[in-house]
Amino acid sequence: MRDRCAFQEELLPRTIAEALQIPFYQRHWRGRNAAMVASLGDLPSLPLLSKDELSEADDLLRDGERAVTLIHSTGTTGRPLVRFRGEAELAAVRAVAHRLAEVREAEPDVVFTTLGASIHGGGVPTPSRAHVVVIACSSKWLIDHAVTLIRRSPIIPSLDDASIELHGRPRHLAILATELARFPISERVHVRAVTSVGYGISRSLRRFLQRTFPNAAVRDTFSLSEIVAGAERCASCGGYHMAAPVVAEIVALDGEGPAPDATGRLVLTELFPFSQLQPLIRYVTGDIVRAVARECEEGGGFDFVGRAAVTPVAVLGGRPSVVLSPWTLGEILEEMPGAARSPLGNALTPPYDVLPMGPPYLDARLVEAEGGQRLVLRVGVSFAPQLHPEAAMAFERDLVTRLVEEDVHFRRAQAMGLPCELRLCQSDAFPPPSSLGK
Ligand SMILES: [Zn+2]
Repeated sequence: MRDRCAFQEELLPRTIAEALQIPFYQRHWRGRNAAMVASLGDLPSLPLLSKDELSEADDLLRDGERAVTLIHSTGTTGRPLVRFRGEAELAAVRAVAHRLAEVREAEPDVVFTTLGASIHGGGVPTPSRAHVVVIACSSKWLIDHAVTLIRRSPIIPSLDDASIELHGRPRHLAILATELARFPISERVHVRAVTSVGYGISRSLRRFLQRTFPNAAVRDTFSLSEIVAGAERCASCGGYHMAAPVVAEIVALDGEGPAPDATGRLVLTELFPFSQLQPLIRYVTGDIVRAVARECEEGGGFDFVGRAAVTPVAVLGGRPSVVLSPWTLGEILEEMPGAARSPLGNALTPPYDVLPMGPPYLDARLVEAEGGQRLVLRVGVSFAPQLHPEAAMAFERDLVTRLVEEDVHFRRAQAMGLPCELRLCQSDAFPPPSSLGK
């Protein structure tokens, strides 16, 4: 933790000075100079940078430097972005990755990485001693092919005893694990690592992956295509920690300073030299997170609350507060018999379009009612609630009990008297899931 802070303190002044060379930041920071932001504690005095500002500014690029790579974000937290990267920053990333590869102990021999419609976390090529094999999960034929390779890797005959890492988005890992679980365990024990990239894996998917690959370290990473380094879930405190070149802040829902309690907007600053051509300083990611309470030697960790666009926020006790965590609701529903699950993505062909491991159907929003606001919670169930009223009542009771136990936001909102209406629906009442979803 001390090392991380010292590293960030050292890189911050140059980050600010470099950004001040760019017309966008001169305008955006309204006359502030580098001396005013000399340490991490001064960072909250700078204005936030929104996705809209980032995509509309045509003078956010450093003059005279050439973009060597473009990275498109998927727009899951707002509008899609194009991010430019220059040779100098890619060289810095590669240098660090080389050092990491040197000190890393148990690197797998072969990494199978899944190709997706989006490239969260996959935008900057990093060196590795492992053979990297790209596989796809977009059709039955491609999945069968991938599974054959993973069961035994005949493509690299010299690596008969190769150790394998599976790397990809949670839904791809779910598909591969489902397929590989059909074969004897002896054909899966050489999978030594499973790394999820994107928005994190739920408790139930983590358990399934661990059961299917008992010899593997399951790594849960959070990454955004527009940020060079991601976060990893920590075995010690259970929260995510951003990699050292990125400063993470949890910012108030309605201001630019620190969140008054543990929940707020995730705001990231990429430090020089990892961000040069188009620096991101106090960038609002579109995610709402909560600081984990447990002390950790890695520093402050955070957990997901939900995408800002789908997380209900009401004024409680005089200030805006999250009244339900969609992430926690999703994790609870995944563990409840009777909750409907969406297919793993409509880009997939049968039979994987009906694999019951996709996100649950849920929708939480505030509606104006007489005398104030009301939280309306719609949840998809796999039975007809009007034909089975007793099952519906039991489901509702269990869900509310678990939400009160597990979601601090919901518990507080209920304690403060926010009315909540729970509606059970069948899955056809919800829009079809996005192929770009988890
Ligand atoms: Zn930790």
